[in-house]
Amino acid sequence: MGDKVSAKQSMIRAGVPCVPGSDGELPDDPVAIRRIARSVGYPVIIKAAGGGGGRGMRVVHTEAALVNAVQMTKAEAETAFGNPAVYMEKFLQNPRHIEIQVIADKFKNAVYLGERDCSMQRRHQKVIEEAPAPGIPRKLIEKIGERCVAACKKIGYRGAGTFEFLYENGEFYFIEMNTRVQVEHPVTEWITGVDIVKTQIMVAAGEKLPFTQRQIEIHGHAIECRINAEDPYKFIPSPGRITMWHAPGGPGVRVDSHVYTNYFVPPNYDSMIGKLIVHGDTREEAIARMRTALLETVVEGINTNVPLHRELMVDAKFNAGGTNIHYLEQWLEERKR
Ligand code: ADP
Repeated sequence: MGDKVSAKQSMIRAGVPCVPGSDGELPDDPVAIRRIARSVGYPVIIKAAGGGGGRGMRVVHTEAALVNAVQMTKAEAETAFGNPAVYMEKFLQNPRHIEIQVIADKFKNAVYLGERDCSMQRRHQKVIEEAPAPGIPRKLIEKIGERCVAACKKIGYRGAGTFEFLYENGEFYFIEMNTRVQVEHPVTEWITGVDIVKTQIMVAAGEKLPFTQRQIEIHGHAIECRINAEDPYKFIPSPGRITMWHAPGGPGVRVDSHVYTNYFVPPNYDSMIGKLIVHGDTREEAIARMRTALLETVVEGINTNVPLHRELMVDAKFNAGGTNIHYLEQWLEERKR
């Protein structure tokens, strides 16, 4: 499931709906590549089979740019992931990113723990995540959740995992599976009460899942803001010494972080230095709590994206819910003007 091409092929076999695209890896022959793109329909996205973290992807709008884009993505994929294989998908115009958390044991028990909405992204990287996804009918979530569970059983999956989908016009399209615990897992822990990390270790040790699907209930709403050491609007990494760190607290507030006053943020790694997660009975309450928690957060000595999160929490469209994967980048463009 870590290889995106073979993951997609097993999902198709398991009856999970996928984004239309090439049937597996793209061939080298330019004529064949053009033929595939024409049948998929422009715009298309070229993606590395071994890609991750929002890298190894290129959107192509015209046939003239196609073959060159495929070659460039292949070369990059080879250098970055040690695997030059690429595939093609239709580039969906206005989807949301909705994902289903699953957990399975070696006895072929599998359970889905609801969904997360991770549409607030920049450069295909998640910035804010929440659960449940605003405005999607429960029936649709149940249907796709059951498909994911069936797929887990079919492939004999064990452990925690996430099925990632693009959601457009009431339809789900599988894009990839993350075969691990993800950064955004706390929002699911909060609305389900399940400790995903503990359960993952239990099933890895060969134990049985301690709950069934019927025991999983969704309570309230949770939101996570990723706190990054970077300029909040230009996104230039900001490593260095944190001269003052004060984390927010109180009911419904969780901070997952390793940093402290005097901690040195090294320049060598990902810029994420913490995660701020809140829970409320309703989405409105969760947002209100996040606003307060962000105002209580103090980080001095380096730049962080806390000011960006403060602005987004009062943005009318974010508050309305259901923004698509392009919203944040469009918002940032607007803000520059
Ligand atoms: P990664 O493994 O790098 O996270 P994904 O396949 O999960 O890559 O894609 C990351 C993001 O890229 C998605 O959330 C979405 O914003 C965008 N994306 C990927 N595939 C498509 C597509 N077919 N159409 C539109 N956007 C896409």
